[in-house]
Amino acid sequence: MSSDSRTVSFISLGCPKNLVDSEQLVSTLLGRGFRVLSAPEEADLVVVNTCGFLEASRAESLDTIRRAVDLKSKGVARVIVAGCMVGNYRDILEREAPGVDRYLPFVDYAQLDKIADEVLPPRGRSSFMVERRRADISLTPAHFSWLKISEGCNHTCSFCVIPSIRGPMRSFPEDDLVRRAEHLVDKGVQEINLIAQDSTVYGTDLYGENRVVRLLERLDRIERLLWVRLMYAYPTEVTPAMMDLLAGGSRIVPYLDVPVQHASDAVLKRMRRGYGRKDLDRLVAGLRQRRLDFTLRTTVIVGFPGETDEEFGELLDFIRSARFRHLGAFAYSREPGSRADDLPGHLPDSVKQARLDELMRLQQSIAFESQDRRLGESALVLVDAASADGEPARARSVMEAPEIDSHILIDGGPVNAGDLLQVRIRERRGYDLVAIPMPRVESAV
Ligand code: SF4
Repeated sequence: MSSDSRTVSFISLGCPKNLVDSEQLVSTLLGRGFRVLSAPEEADLVVVNTCGFLEASRAESLDTIRRAVDLKSKGVARVIVAGCMVGNYRDILEREAPGVDRYLPFVDYAQLDKIADEVLPPRGRSSFMVERRRADISLTPAHFSWLKISEGCNHTCSFCVIPSIRGPMRSFPEDDLVRRAEHLVDKGVQEINLIAQDSTVYGTDLYGENRVVRLLERLDRIERLLWVRLMYAYPTEVTPAMMDLLAGGSRIVPYLDVPVQHASDAVLKRMRRGYGRKDLDRLVAGLRQRRLDFTLRTTVIVGFPGETDEEFGELLDFIRSARFRHLGAFAYSREPGSRADDLPGHLPDSVKQARLDELMRLQQSIAFESQDRRLGESALVLVDAASADGEPARARSVMEAPEIDSHILIDGGPVNAGDLLQVRIRERRGYDLVAIPMPRVESAV
């Protein structure tokens, strides 16, 4: 093993897809002999993995880069910037956050070890003494993991610039994914969450056919794995066979994250989503027919260019009838370079905000009602975080995905992250539920 004394600190912004990239980048640097520190101010190198999805994410990325660059005057030697902003917003980065030592576009990710050597040469020994080792690091708690099944996207949604940043969809080989999942389970992971830009067309590029069901079936058979969850489904790609498996798998949980974005036919057409309200109604009904307690999560955009009161009303009507357990909503944000940016009828921020508030009030009443129906029920939960600083332990059941959904707070303990508990739900606290542990269950893994 090398005696390289270089240290690196990673700041990963944005979605789980970015976090998976960060895990690979960290692993590359570990393999190159770097030590990873959590405090950026103590590191020789800071890598900021940016998110460029929305205006707010870009502002956060710029702010984080500026703070990282400021650290250079306090001892941090170098700053590398990676992620979505490097592809499409390089000019903004250079103008508004100068002082970065190197930008790392997606195409150069495999070269990070060499680039890091150029930016910050190994100390003490010449670089040929530094061995490449295979490292494997997880930035999530030990009991759950994200598994990216493909990269890029073939859709042409008018509000989105991700395809131009990440390129067309490229699926990762099915055998590699199954091996990776088995490896994660060997390391103690109990829950695997499948992610992609569109997880429901997995395999079409690589195998000439959709392999989602096949991949899910293989993961469903991995012993010692507790839960498998499918995130980022595209509404028109959820087939009856997929629904059957999602509703009736052993380890596949009855949960689907399916961003619908809107429900008015006219808005969906302007968004270039390729479906209409009837398709959405069919999807929701298909899953609920298979399982009444099926959990649906979605994301919607309000205030899209030209959105009329009536069209916004159609979205509210759909939300009222579909009753998503979890919903994330965003006010439309202009994305330079996207087709929607050139559409007429951009709405004032005040209108977008008012519609967002109205939609969230509606969703709050739906979410609270659905949580209230669970009072008194028992649930099997996986603990994400032990109680600390007077805060109760946080856990989730199959109905909650990590990091984005509400929690089940555990009243009583002690419990540790990764524990599997049977609990009785006692009360609702905002969007969260509070539960007490029942007699202990041995972990399935
Ligand atoms: S499906 Fe649409 S919104 Fe999602 S990444 Fe692809 S183009 Fe963007």
